[in-house]
Parts: sequence; C-alpha cells; structure tokens
Amino acid sequence: MRWDPNSEPPASPYAKPGYGLGIQRGVMNRCPCCGEGKVFRAYLKVVDECSACHAPLGALRSDDAPPYFTILIVGHVLVPLLFWVERAYEPPIWLHMVIWLPLFTLACIGLLRPIKGAVVGWMCALGFDAQDHEAVMPAARPDA
Ligand SMILES: [Zn+2]
Repeated sequence: MRWDPNSEPPASPYAKPGYGLGIQRGVMNRCPCCGEGKVFRAYLKVVDECSACHAPLGALRSDDAPPYFTILIVGHVLVPLLFWVERAYEPPIWLHMVIWLPLFTLACIGLLRPIKGAVVGWMCALGFDAQDHEAVMPAARPDA
C-alpha cells in the first residue's frame, strides 16, 4: 500500500480530550481519554491500557519530559528562595545542606508523578496513531 499525502489519518477509537482536560485528568491520575480509569499502576508505571475505556496509555512514552518539567519547576521555585535565604541570613553551609537537599528531594518526588500524568494527558490530547494501537493491541488495527 502506498502512502497518499492527501489521505486522512485513521480516526482514533478512543475519546480525544482537549489539552486542558487531558492534562487536568492526567494530573489527577485519571485516564485522560475517559476520566474514569487510572493512569498509574505504581508510582511512575503507566498502566498498559485504561481499565474503563481500554485506551492504550502504556503506549504513550513520555520519556524525559516529566523529569525535565519537574526540574524546571522545582529549580525555578527553590533556587531563588535559596539565594534569598543566603543573602538575607547567611546561614552556614551545613545548614543549607540540611534544609535544601531534603526540600529539593521531596519537591521532586511530589511533583514527578502528577507532571508525568500531565504529559500522558497532553499526549492523549495529541491523539493515538496506528503505531500506538499496534504496540499494545495488534488486533485494534483494521489492516493487521
Ligand atoms: Zn479511559
């Protein structure tokens, strides 16, 4: 079969949320497509497919985006705060370490999962393609 540049991509059998709704549902650990099933089966393990609508969420590979956005947000909030404390109070370096290292760690651990859910929701809003279907459910493709 030859690729036709004028052909429409195959329609997804799963509900396609808007970007805002998909991201919001992902942050809340809800399936971005239907809002019913869960996104995660462990701290950062995405389910293979939604328990309610069977959308192949596990095929959406968020890769390095969640840690990137987590570091971006945590860094932009805590680093200026760290500099302000240093400038205002000049605490000893050991006190900086005792305060900031656990704070950075907890902030990253707390934000990584909702941010990964948001990225999965964002990817759902972009839509599944034929490769995503085949990765999880080979029978889902009409030509398979
Ligand atoms: Zn679902």
